[in-house]
Amino acid sequence: MTTQKIIPILNNPQAASVDGLGCHSGEAQMIEAAKSANKSEVLERYAKDYPKGPHDQPQSMCPAFGSLRVGLRMRRTSTILSGSACCVYGLTFTSHFYGAKRSVGYVPFNSESLVTGKLFEDIREAVFKEADPAKYDAVVIINLCVPTASGVPLQLLPKEINGVRIIGIDVPGFGVPTHAEAKDVLAGAMLKYARNEAEAGPVTAPRQGVSDKPTVTLLGEMFPVDPVGIGMMLEPMGLAAGPVVPTREWRELYQALDCAVVAAIHPFYTASIREFKAAGRNIVGSAPIGYEGTAAWLEAIGKSCNVPADLIAAAQNKFLPMIKGALAAKPIKGRITLSGYEGSELLVARLLIESGADVRYVGSACPKTEWSENDKNWLEAKGVRVQYRASLEDDLAAIDEFKPDLAIGTTPVVQKAKQLTLPSLYFTNLISARPLMGVAGAGSLAQVVNAAIANKHRFNEMESFFKDIGTGHSAGVWDQVPVDRPDFKADVRRRLEKAAKKRKAEEMGS
Ligand code: SF4
Repeated sequence: MTTQKIIPILNNPQAASVDGLGCHSGEAQMIEAAKSANKSEVLERYAKDYPKGPHDQPQSMCPAFGSLRVGLRMRRTSTILSGSACCVYGLTFTSHFYGAKRSVGYVPFNSESLVTGKLFEDIREAVFKEADPAKYDAVVIINLCVPTASGVPLQLLPKEINGVRIIGIDVPGFGVPTHAEAKDVLAGAMLKYARNEAEAGPVTAPRQGVSDKPTVTLLGEMFPVDPVGIGMMLEPMGLAAGPVVPTREWRELYQALDCAVVAAIHPFYTASIREFKAAGRNIVGSAPIGYEGTAAWLEAIGKSCNVPADLIAAAQNKFLPMIKGALAAKPIKGRITLSGYEGSELLVARLLIESGADVRYVGSACPKTEWSENDKNWLEAKGVRVQYRASLEDDLAAIDEFKPDLAIGTTPVVQKAKQLTLPSLYFTNLISARPLMGVAGAGSLAQVVNAAIANKHRFNEMESFFKDIGTGHSAGVWDQVPVDRPDFKADVRRRLEKAAKKRKAEEMGS
């Protein structure tokens, strides 16, 4: 075991003031505190990698969930959180809700351990205890909002303990806008580590041996059938599907880096792409989705790998007719608005349109990058409004404007659509849980989408049955028939306004 060192006490009096703040309030204070605590560099990098605007912070779950999920899904990887107990409770709950089979590590803190630097010592101790090479290839430690704002210096942790890699990352909600991009923060950090290892000497071979064909690394989580289907489409070009990043095991990182080309299926993996570029790899955007998407993608991948034109044509001629047939066999009829936070929204919209749907709006919580440019242009040419960094308000306004037969979206979008008696589907649970690519993807959405649209009459029946019950003044649970009291409400409103004015006057006077 490496000898433990004494860690200097942090000289950051602002640290204590951010304890108690979070994503509900105090973002500006936390950013200032983080900057004065030597986190400017990391915040600047995030601001460049994950540009905000037009909406600053899409309403989505805690961003750190993305990094946590990537860590928890990797074999022989321990993931530890450092943050406020309420954040850790929420993140642990969510990860187990989504089926994590692993424990989440936690290093608690209080105001005193933050300002004295004891928290860092506690993290260091936890990392040393956890770094057992018999159990783990890597230990990931994630600074949440308060420890990041307080400058807890994870970069001072040893890079390796007993052969176990130590990966420390800051994933504050005030620096990483979405949980999708937080996946990239960890995937990028791991790729960087693995790239340095590969550059330094021999590394572990892939579990199934090194591929005898040039491989295409697939960037972005996808339905398990999709990489298999992509592999089949690459085969006539003499190529093979490589690993999916974020990977499921450390050694796959070397395999991912050792590719002929990277397919940025999800377009927001900016830090990961930086590592692939540093390893000398080309990047191809978009995905083999629908007829036109697959035709263009096979050509772009083939050209990037110097595949002769006749082999690219062979792959296209083999699969495109099947895709066309599958799309025609399962048409979708109806107007759809679509929004999500996974980064695959534009691809899904393309598939829906090629299936015959009338898609009017696509909102993505993710930022605009060059890797989704072709999809955006394709959609806009079909008259679709594409909104990057879409807010909940954008998504809801699109429903009001386009009055769709079906709203696909996040939980609050679906909730609102249901209130309006519109059929709706959860993007994450019902759309992302299906193959989207190539032949398997063509037509895969028709069943669920058409069934949902056909349910409109049920919403109408429910609305006429319940009428206004449970809305407005009668919302809630009552043991008597609720009575509306507008006078009482007006009186309370007046008093609150008066109190607010008084408070403001006192603040200005003080
Ligand atoms: S760690 Fe997540 S839940 Fe906690 S304050 Fe930050 S954004 Fe909010």
